[in-house]
Amino acid sequence: MNGLMQDWPLLISRFIQFSEKNHTEVEIISMLPEGGMLRTNYGAVSQRSKKIAQTLSRLGIKSGDRVGTLAWNTHRHLEIWFGTSGMGAVTHTVNPRLFPEQLIYIINHAEDIVLFVDLSFVSIVQDIASQLETVKHFVIMVGPEHMPAQSSVHFLCYEELLNGENGQYSWPEFNENTASSLCYTSGTTGDPKGVLYSHRSNYLHTMSAMGKDAFNIGSLDVVMPVVPMFHANAWGIPYGTAGLGAKLVLIGPHHDAETLHNLIVDEGVTISAAVPTIWSGLLTYLEKTGKGLGKIENIIIGGSSAPRSMIKTFKDKYGVWVSHVWGMTELSPLGTVCKPNSLNSNLSGDELNNLQCMQGRGVMGIEMSIKSDTGDFLPWDGRTQGNLMSRGPWVLKQYFKSDTTALDDDMWFETGDVATINRSGYMQITDRSKDVIKSGGEWISSIDIENAALSHPAVQEAAVISHFHPKWEERPLIFVFLKEGKTLNLEDMNEHLKPLVAKWWLPNGLILIDKIPHTATGKISKKCLRKLVLDYQFP
Ligand code: ADP
Repeated sequence: MNGLMQDWPLLISRFIQFSEKNHTEVEIISMLPEGGMLRTNYGAVSQRSKKIAQTLSRLGIKSGDRVGTLAWNTHRHLEIWFGTSGMGAVTHTVNPRLFPEQLIYIINHAEDIVLFVDLSFVSIVQDIASQLETVKHFVIMVGPEHMPAQSSVHFLCYEELLNGENGQYSWPEFNENTASSLCYTSGTTGDPKGVLYSHRSNYLHTMSAMGKDAFNIGSLDVVMPVVPMFHANAWGIPYGTAGLGAKLVLIGPHHDAETLHNLIVDEGVTISAAVPTIWSGLLTYLEKTGKGLGKIENIIIGGSSAPRSMIKTFKDKYGVWVSHVWGMTELSPLGTVCKPNSLNSNLSGDELNNLQCMQGRGVMGIEMSIKSDTGDFLPWDGRTQGNLMSRGPWVLKQYFKSDTTALDDDMWFETGDVATINRSGYMQITDRSKDVIKSGGEWISSIDIENAALSHPAVQEAAVISHFHPKWEERPLIFVFLKEGKTLNLEDMNEHLKPLVAKWWLPNGLILIDKIPHTATGKISKKCLRKLVLDYQFP
């Protein structure tokens, strides 16, 4: 027997439709790539999203077609998101930080028909346009006054396209399992892989991610997702703020600490989200200038492990709570959030800091487990490390255009992370499976050593890789980027690490480096570091 409730497909257009009715005047701040700032609101963005849907229909886009974006977090990018998915086509957010060959591969693989481009990326597109096999229309996301005078590529103008539409448009209804958006993982192994979200998966992800035990966002918040909209949908935040009617601050191309700080203070930001490198830049800026953090209460950190010292400094010095989160493109992306629960709500000081360093518990709707290399489920004892598995309504089952399942025989998705889970369900990532250091058969966590190294006063950034050792097969090698004017050697580092990690985990070598390389999604690129030391031998 079926239930007797309304048949109401979970569509992304619901968020913007609801927002137009209920939160019309709630502000959206948009930093423009062509310069300056725009103050708009959900009502205007909703209207213009409808014009995007009309424009796309006029350009021949039909349900299921892919529409690419090479764009920062701006109101126009948001309009394209809602307009494209809302009309039944697929928003394909491309990470503009990728190398040209990867961009070409991804856009061709996705078969994008229209490509929307921010002014900052016009020259990249000019260079690769002739190799993009399926793109019929290139649109620059500006008004006519900012269009380039001459170009080898025929570019359309965003604002002119919108001006040609009347906005009289009703969002169509269709099956909630229809594809809504596409995001490629940066492909640390092999070619990048496409994760094709559905309206249903994004809708459910949003409902869970906004909750109190997750991102904890409400209508009184002012939310600034620094995480780009091309990185796993800015962790789903803009869908949620639209539905909830929270003021949204879109930072455009500006990721420098001074602009972030100004926006936080001037716009009264209460919640922001980004990868750790953004926050270490901001903390250095605050230290130098002696400035404060305005009204911000909650900083969401994920994408890489949030360092212990960062969590502590935000709390002790600035009174800001760090929500440590874990996820991945394949999980839409939110998997876990670290918050105290009723069993540990009275923790304080170092104990609370220890808890916050964990990646936390599965958000409502996400299940997790850890398995051995032979596929056996491992105990949740907080000590046993295993391959982290996940399942749930917003977890990938198959990559775009792949003809094989991405799940194991038990229908779990293997995340590629290695983790422990304790009895209360708190998960702690110890490594990526390919980065774990196997010394004499025992596993050493590179992330734990990095975290401990970061609390050394001379260290700005640290990265640990596994390196060949004649006796132990693999041993930890640490790369350190020093703070200005500081010095450090292996003995100093290991003296500092001794009370913090197991003695047999101490690195066998230390290399000072001018800059730690990062991937296009802001993670330490261990692949690049490994290449630097092909001939290196431990002392
Ligand atoms: P990409 O793999 O394309 O760089 P993703 O955002 O999908 O982008 O990366 C997901 C991976 O990032 C996870 O599998 C995990 O290894 C890492 N990660 C994400 N959040 C955390 C975290 N809080 N702590 C440690 N690692 C994390």
